Amino acid sequence: MRREGQAPGKGAELVRLVDVSKTFGTKEASHTVLQDVNFSIVSGEFFILLGPSGCGKTTLLRLLGGFEYPTTGIIALDGVDLSNVAPHRRPINTVFQSYALFPHMTVRQNVAYGLRMLKWPTDKLNARVSEVLELVRLSQFEGRRPAQLSGGQQQRVALARALAPSPRLLLLDEPLSALDLKLRKGMQAELKRLQRETGITFVLVTHDQEEALAMADRVAVVDGGRVLQIGPPEDVYTKPTNPFVADFIGEANLVAGELFGRPGMVLALRQESLTFSPGPGRMRGVVSAITFLGSDILYEVKVGEGQTDLRMRGRRETTPKLDVGAEVFVDWAEASEWWMSK
Ligand code: ADP
Ligand code: MG
Repeated sequence: MRREGQAPGKGAELVRLVDVSKTFGTKEASHTVLQDVNFSIVSGEFFILLGPSGCGKTTLLRLLGGFEYPTTGIIALDGVDLSNVAPHRRPINTVFQSYALFPHMTVRQNVAYGLRMLKWPTDKLNARVSEVLELVRLSQFEGRRPAQLSGGQQQRVALARALAPSPRLLLLDEPLSALDLKLRKGMQAELKRLQRETGITFVLVTHDQEEALAMADRVAVVDGGRVLQIGPPEDVYTKPTNPFVADFIGEANLVAGELFGRPGMVLALRQESLTFSPGPGRMRGVVSAITFLGSDILYEVKVGEGQTDLRMRGRRETTPKLDVGAEVFVDWAEASEWWMSK
């Protein structure tokens, strides 16, 4: 492990969690929220914790921030165990979902607040505040108070305030969930840009798999307090290590291996990998539902004596127009098959 004060470069291990678990409650009524969590976060990466509501994402983020302490295990930053480091002494900042801005202060004062607490000299402080306001494109609003800003602008103030002291780690808990779809897409690109331009390591929590795939350098998929898989978005999408991940990321079709003489196995087939075949295909079925998704169209097809509904997603222009009840053959390339243990 590294010694304190030694700054690792981009690509070096920044955070390590070793056998971390978290249990809430008393001995009589305890509730284990995180179990056997082991992973590392690399300096300079955009790391995303992805999982369904209640799986323990916020708890994991609060452990990193120092707002909670692990029941067992170690969390280290730059090789230094954080157990005895109070939240305000960690080089870690959090952007809260509620933004938590000071209503009576101007944008500039809000952003300067943390630096004042850290006793930055005035010249340096003023220059840094101007720099981060420029970074989040709020320079022209520096004299306003939070109530005079839109929700998106308030969020930028919260981001500027958290980025100002150049923390080693920035924690963001579902930062985009309160925004409408259009603003959310814009902010995804904006967060990517801020992360790239500052080089600060971001750890973002979301339950939205599309958001995670769009922004992350690496994703950790969490379910029931366990980290199931970690990897770059493309790997997690194309090579899921278990059926939960395959279904949660991109809603793959999960087909019982028994149908293909492979008991104990599950075949994952991506919606976009399936096609209708004019002649006999791998499976025969009946169209049971059709959903219009704008640029795409989604067919559901009952196959295997009606036990399984396959979802097929294709471009609207290039997918045959069929009606509910149509008898079809479904096909796929062998290369798009992905087998997993149950
Ligand atoms: P997520 O952010 O993934 O939705 P959380 O980390 O907030 O999940 O919560 C995970 C589980 O831990 C939930 O069942 C929640 O009720 C429980 N939990 C969270 N904080 C506490 C607490 N302070 N005391 C008891 N249970 C808690
Ligand atoms: Mg949460």
